Amino acid sequence: GQCSLYCPSGAITEYDQTKNLEALLKTRKKLVIAGIAPSCRLTMAELFGLQPGDLTTGQCVHILRLLGFHKVFDVQFTADLTIMEEGTELLHRLTDPKATLPMFTSCCPGWINMVEKQYPKLIPHLSSCRSPQQMFGSIIKNYYARKVRVLPQNIFCVTVMPCTAKKQELLRPQFQNPKTKFKDVDLSLTVREIGRMIKRRGIGLSQLEERDFDNPLGSSTGSAQLFASSGGVMEAALRSAYWLKTSEAFPKLEFKPVRGLEGIKESSLDFDGRQLKIAVVSGGKNIHKFLEPWGTTSFNYDFIEIMACPGGCIGGGGQPRSNKKILPLRIQSCYNREKAQSTRSSHENPQIKKLYADWLKKPHGKIAIKFLHTTYSPFQFQTDLSSNTKSKYNERNR
Ligand code: SF4
Repeated sequence: GQCSLYCPSGAITEYDQTKNLEALLKTRKKLVIAGIAPSCRLTMAELFGLQPGDLTTGQCVHILRLLGFHKVFDVQFTADLTIMEEGTELLHRLTDPKATLPMFTSCCPGWINMVEKQYPKLIPHLSSCRSPQQMFGSIIKNYYARKVRVLPQNIFCVTVMPCTAKKQELLRPQFQNPKTKFKDVDLSLTVREIGRMIKRRGIGLSQLEERDFDNPLGSSTGSAQLFASSGGVMEAALRSAYWLKTSEAFPKLEFKPVRGLEGIKESSLDFDGRQLKIAVVSGGKNIHKFLEPWGTTSFNYDFIEIMACPGGCIGGGGQPRSNKKILPLRIQSCYNREKAQSTRSSHENPQIKKLYADWLKKPHGKIAIKFLHTTYSPFQFQTDLSSNTKSKYNERNR
């Protein structure tokens, strides 16, 4: 029953939320914004019988425009932002002798729910960074809204995501305006739900032209594309943390030991004179296995990336059905696209630099902590969900 709260498979909790959205897009009563996750642009083609990666990012943008979204932004922009914040947090933890190590990544709500329910002792080890989805919502409602002079309550923020865990993540009270209770992200749709919308609208995919994202949340680097696959957040964070520390490029731009489908990947590397021990884990069973030696001397890592789905978000439950043949193709498409990007490290993203100059000032500074970071608490079933959502979960799990 309660496993649906961190079930990334989508089998239990997926229900169609697209009808209300379609009505809203027609009325134009709100500014409706879409943001697409790194992994979803790789898989969208499969919904139409094509091969993974067959649609370009620009074609996915075009599809979202044809669906009627008023602005189409990129969640990869906030993936780059996550890296700036998480890289800085890692450096703080590595240099402050009183800080808690190892640090775990926090982009995957499936993993966050697992910690709060089953491993509350690990809470101080979780990065305080919000996920790219929640940074996206926060930037839209707290920065972009002001920039375009639209009241946050007149913006409806939609994300296209690889899993249903993202639907529950946006309901967390930490991601609502404390006074108005308006959510940062109003609706999270799986890529499969978007597929149903496309089919209902009869949008043809042949010879679909490419379109650019809107700005300022439209630019991203190769690092942000890496978020789609297990190991990607680690690789991206190493690139930028190294630069933040040394002002030099990370010597191993393509850090192969963290790539691929293996459930538990470990490595150690020289990080500006310090030996850094890292691990990358994906898939529920692997996570439990990996955490077994927790508390013993053999568990001596500095930085750990964890994703609840096997292979990371490319294997998410909201994605088109996959198998052992399809996942490697999705991974390949992810690395091909990352390589093709002209800027490959998050700190090189010009729009991110501008965002810090305009508003945030500095990574992990006062404003960034208020709007881009979060807190966690041991799970309490009674208080964590609104009664409406709770009854939906119960209904579906009977
Ligand atoms: Fe969702 Fe990605 Fe986490 Fe799976 S790994 S639960 S798809 S965020």
